[in-house]
Amino acid sequence: MQFSITKNPSPTPADERAKVLAAPTFGTHFTDHQVVVVWEKGKGWHSAEVIPYGPIMMDPSSAVLHYGQEIFEGIKAYRHPDGSIWTFRPEKNAQRLQKSAKRMALPELPEDIFIESLRQLIAVDGDWVPEAEGEKTLYFRPFEIAAENYLGVRPANRVEYRLIASPVGPYFTGGIKPVSIWIALGSARAGKHGTGEAKTGGNYAASLLAQQEGNENGCSQVMFLDAESGTYIEELGGMNLFFIYKDGSVVTPSLDGTILHGITRDSVITLLEDRGHKVTQRRFELSELREKAASGEIVEVFACGTAAVITPVGLLKSKEEEILIAGNEPGELTVALRKELTGIQYGTVSDKHNWMLKLKD
Ligand SMILES: *Cc1c(COP(=O)(O)O)cnc(C)c1O
Repeated sequence: MQFSITKNPSPTPADERAKVLAAPTFGTHFTDHQVVVVWEKGKGWHSAEVIPYGPIMMDPSSAVLHYGQEIFEGIKAYRHPDGSIWTFRPEKNAQRLQKSAKRMALPELPEDIFIESLRQLIAVDGDWVPEAEGEKTLYFRPFEIAAENYLGVRPANRVEYRLIASPVGPYFTGGIKPVSIWIALGSARAGKHGTGEAKTGGNYAASLLAQQEGNENGCSQVMFLDAESGTYIEELGGMNLFFIYKDGSVVTPSLDGTILHGITRDSVITLLEDRGHKVTQRRFELSELREKAASGEIVEVFACGTAAVITPVGLLKSKEEEILIAGNEPGELTVALRKELTGIQYGTVSDKHNWMLKLKD
């Protein structure tokens, strides 16, 4: 597929861009261009374009605005010490976008078009990838929306894939400090046979009320339990969870249909196994966390995802209880894993699993 390129006639001046890149805050500034690829029923994917960043002209009856038929991805571009620009396991994001598409009755974007869209955006906006220092990256947000003007309820016959990008600093400001997590009681994010495995806006919309409650209680993230019994730990609103035992073994909730298949999660399992840790994927009860954190058998808990990488969890609380993890200090293994993973991403640690893909010299 050929991408046509329309350069932004008034891109951000270099000094203004430099100011943004010096201290980017998450998801507030965007680069000078975006990618659009259109899909129509009977015609397939066509009209791949790089165009200036700007608002989407949309009819108020556009399907996505009413029934939430949309999916998205999150992936980053990293600047290596020699100035080259790389990304991390993009084929995984491409495949997950396809899986989300299937669940949400959206068309599957071919993997090569997904990866080419990243290359095309970096080709015009590569200067927006910050220097690695201070854990800065360019965050890509690929997404698909139902873009048909029609109020009837059925999968849209016209869909747009778009890609935008935002320079970002650390997701959690304040360095590698444990976060506090609000345990959502009486609020679920995903049910059996629901959309929990799809990266779709509706799951996030469903998490916001609990998120707000968490924020009011001094927590930055929310942990969801299974919708059926409220017994098992699933994941955070946008991150997967790991529990580390004193004997070095590690548990993470199994992917039983309601949990997002995190690419960071998958990578962390590999890095843990490389280090000789036994990683078990199974159902994990909140009561086990409660008891084993209190007895000192669970020594570290961390959350992981592309946006926040690996973040220690120091405290979990609800209306009913507080669970303190290892004195609210960042754990040794958590810190080591974070260092290793970011080292691979920023090109300072050898990439022995071939996870990195170069986007630009
Ligand atoms: C995106 C996301 C994650 C993390 O996935 P990564 O591929 O590691 O970024 C975890 N949980 C939810 C609900 C998500 O949307």
